[in-house]
Amino acid sequence: SLKMIYYVTPTYPRPEQVPELMRLAYTLMHVPRLHWIVADDESVCSEPVLNILRRTGLPFTHISSPKPFIYKTSNFPRGVANRRAALEWIQKNVSDGILYFGDDDNAVDLQLFDEIRSTKKVSMFPVGLIGNYGVSTPIVKDGKVLGFFDSWPASRTFPVDMAGFAINIGFLKDSADMPFIAGHEEDKFLVSLDLDIEDIEPLAGNCTRILVWHTKTAKHKKSTLKVNINKLTSMDK
Ligand code: UDP
Ligand code: MN
Repeated sequence: SLKMIYYVTPTYPRPEQVPELMRLAYTLMHVPRLHWIVADDESVCSEPVLNILRRTGLPFTHISSPKPFIYKTSNFPRGVANRRAALEWIQKNVSDGILYFGDDDNAVDLQLFDEIRSTKKVSMFPVGLIGNYGVSTPIVKDGKVLGFFDSWPASRTFPVDMAGFAINIGFLKDSADMPFIAGHEEDKFLVSLDLDIEDIEPLAGNCTRILVWHTKTAKHKKSTLKVNINKLTSMDK
């Protein structure tokens, strides 16, 4: 049977959260054999998020994993405590399948899921609408990854975005770790897996096609109305 894809989404409360997750849900509902792990940056699992998850009909896991207080700074690592919690859940509960990190604001072509499902160790592919170059991608020659094209190399071994790779869960080691270092989460995580560049499987037509985008939703301007938009949303059942 088809390998299960574990789609890991960190999320946090804000007025855009419900529409972002709703839109992502309608993409994921088209994918067979997908388990959605939503890791909530809150001290309790939020009602509006749970309502969306229930309505998808997908198998899901909803984890409460607030960021530690010390990371409530200006350039804090975004979505790390929650991705770590999801990773821990997978390591405890799953022995077979594919792990993919997808933010709540990304846009994904359904073809990507067909491609990542056969990942043997770690697969990689381009991510659109990111950084100053507009794309981050492995550089491929004769079906082999030779290097990376990314506008912020920052002496990283694997300068890729969180949405630019998928992992066979059998390849996840106990040593797998994602540190709280803004901008270096992907690289340090991949290095912690003892990944060799020769082992990377390039997808999306040898990285010639963009099947996932680092889209960003504009923040709603502060309303002059003094109400909590999330409260309104959660009462609207
Ligand atoms: N995120 C989170 N807590 C935060 C900020 C962000 O859980 O305090 C999540 C967010 O919902 C998203 C991911 O972490 O799924 C990356 O955040 P964002 O999209 O804001 O950052 P960018 O993609 O621009 O790096
Ligand atoms: Mn994002």
